[in-house]
Amino acid sequence: MDNPFLEFYSVIRILVWLGLAVLGFLLALIVRVIQGKSAGEAAKNAVEAGLTTLVGALFAQLIVAFFIWLGGATDAAMIGTGFFLMIWPGIIDMIGLAATGDSLWGVPGYLWIAMALGAGGGWFDGFHKVHNWTGLGVVTFLSDFTWGLPLNVNAFLIHLINLGWGNFQDGDGRRGAHRYARGFAIKPGFAFTQGNVLSSLGNGPGAGIYTHEQTHVFQNRLFGPFFWMTYFGWLILFGAAGLIGMIAPGKNSANVRISNNFPMWWGYFNNPWELWAYTHNPTGRTGNLPAGDGTGWLDWPVVVKVILSVIGEAILLALILLAIWRIWFP
Ligand SMILES: [Zn+2]
Repeated sequence: MDNPFLEFYSVIRILVWLGLAVLGFLLALIVRVIQGKSAGEAAKNAVEAGLTTLVGALFAQLIVAFFIWLGGATDAAMIGTGFFLMIWPGIIDMIGLAATGDSLWGVPGYLWIAMALGAGGGWFDGFHKVHNWTGLGVVTFLSDFTWGLPLNVNAFLIHLINLGWGNFQDGDGRRGAHRYARGFAIKPGFAFTQGNVLSSLGNGPGAGIYTHEQTHVFQNRLFGPFFWMTYFGWLILFGAAGLIGMIAPGKNSANVRISNNFPMWWGYFNNPWELWAYTHNPTGRTGNLPAGDGTGWLDWPVVVKVILSVIGEAILLALILLAIWRIWFP
């Protein structure tokens, strides 16, 4: 078996890792100078970007190596780690394994991918100066590149998609998250948060919707892979239930708007992670209720919400644990 930790002694890997940090430093320096910042200011920002590139790349590799090692460095351990901790590399490798019978990346490949993702995401964090180093910055930064890595992979992709047209807001201060007023979104008019990137969010600190999106950043840091798994698990499970609700006979034809939005209501608005986040901007949720027309049943009593949440989470958690068990102990 390959011990993934032996990879850290590879000279070429160390050189590339250090090289990325130097590149991160230079890139930040050049961009800031072009933007007309003073030499001192540009240099300070560049040092931060270089360091976050260096440390982000290191910790992303460490957490990936740890879980691959934990699973005995088998194909299943690699794919499980790739899927739970980095999402896309694991999905691509599942297809690769099914097609070729071998992991596409192997242990070294997974660690190269982790290095690239950690370096890229880390660079943006340092360049945009989002972590509050005199407060909880170390905690927010390290959790984003270890336990919270999966959705920060998507965060990095959103940075890349938003390059050029997404207008980054640099007046928020060091609040542990990036914000693009205009940027990638799933649904027009809705903000979209992945990892520590708040995209398509016009409202800054102090607004309920801002706190709502920051809640998702916190949920990811605290629950890591379980957050994205259960969030999307719920969305799919109850979104599908909502689709059935739409075509089921006896639906409330008096309210076509809501009836046609069952997947949105069941999968999204009543998603436990959203119920939690919407406590900060309840009008954003209840504003969509057909108030006073007698069909407000979708705003279920709190007790029902909690019971549904617990049942849904328990089912999904059980499925995930079963999947992990089957992958790691085939
Ligand atoms: Zn939300």
